[in-house]
Amino acid sequence: MPYPKLVVDTKKLAHNTRTLAERCAARGIALAAVTKVYCAFPELARVQAASGVAWLADSRVENLAKLQDIPLPKILLRLPMISQAEDVVALADLSFNSEIATCKALAAAARKQGKIHDVLLMVDLGDLREGVWADRAVETAGEILALEGVRLRGVGVNLTCYGGVLPSSANMTRLVEIAEAIEKRYGVALEIVSGGNSSSLKLLASGGMPSRINHLRLGESVVLGFETAEGTRIPGTVDDVFTFAAEIVELQTKPSLPVGEIGRDAFGQVPVFEDRGWRRRAIVAAGRQDLRIDAMRPRDEKISILGASSDHMILDVTDSSREWQVGDAVEFNLAYGALLAAATSAYVTKEFV
Ligand SMILES: *Cc1c(COP(=O)(O)O)cnc(C)c1O
Repeated sequence: MPYPKLVVDTKKLAHNTRTLAERCAARGIALAAVTKVYCAFPELARVQAASGVAWLADSRVENLAKLQDIPLPKILLRLPMISQAEDVVALADLSFNSEIATCKALAAAARKQGKIHDVLLMVDLGDLREGVWADRAVETAGEILALEGVRLRGVGVNLTCYGGVLPSSANMTRLVEIAEAIEKRYGVALEIVSGGNSSSLKLLASGGMPSRINHLRLGESVVLGFETAEGTRIPGTVDDVFTFAAEIVELQTKPSLPVGEIGRDAFGQVPVFEDRGWRRRAIVAAGRQDLRIDAMRPRDEKISILGASSDHMILDVTDSSREWQVGDAVEFNLAYGALLAAATSAYVTKEFV
């Protein structure tokens, strides 16, 4: 298969998924596997679905459409667009919501399709991305409960996505209190209390998660074995499920300082250079169109990334113990941003092994 390519070790993906699904299950938590970082490739979602998860979750309706053959309930994580209400009802079993206007559109679409659509009310506990402010949660729940065609299945929170707010016993307890206040006020039972994303795992491991939290949506921790907010590796997981490989198209010895007057580069930046003398430099055929170079590192730790333009990435291979040749492929580990870009790029071949 042609380079550049994204190679996925499905055994390792299964290992990470099962490890975290079991860790969650031990605390009464159902795991939703979040597929958006790998564009919901069905080959990979199927592996996750067979590894102990209860749900598949994605931000995009287009991705959920690819997963319809997999017999697990699906969650739409991003607040639905009213313009997509029909598709949301058709393709998602549960959607996360904070707007009554949207819930009304979902209810109408559900009635039209002869369905009941499940809704989870998102509560903003300070991170300032989606969710009703906590003091509006009970009232909003009442408005959802009054709609015919949707069913309020629970409440949830998202943290460490915009404001960087970390999950804590305090904000998780607040979410549980909101769930209980809704139950008491309207005489209903809320089945799901969804306590966040990968950044909630640390609180879970420390024993600080209230027992009523019974649902997590995990993407990064499962696919990369890493959690960005705390900057920690997740114990028991592997970090090389995904390998990016790009082919060397030039290998030359050149000075480390450009020659001539310096203007802006292709991305509007004035580049800065350090004089390290003459260096062995490799150009690989991949670039910013496919990747985020600040979110990846060569597997060979003696190689460093010097920079990239749209289609060329420049590496310093002087210190590598391998005799690199033009035509060789260099392998990289990817962090979240680079994986997201590589999975999305039409120029990157995907290989599942
Ligand atoms: C993307 C997303 C997740 C998964 O986040 P990770 O940090 O990758 O685990 C969970 N919930 C929502 C609402 C999301 O948008």
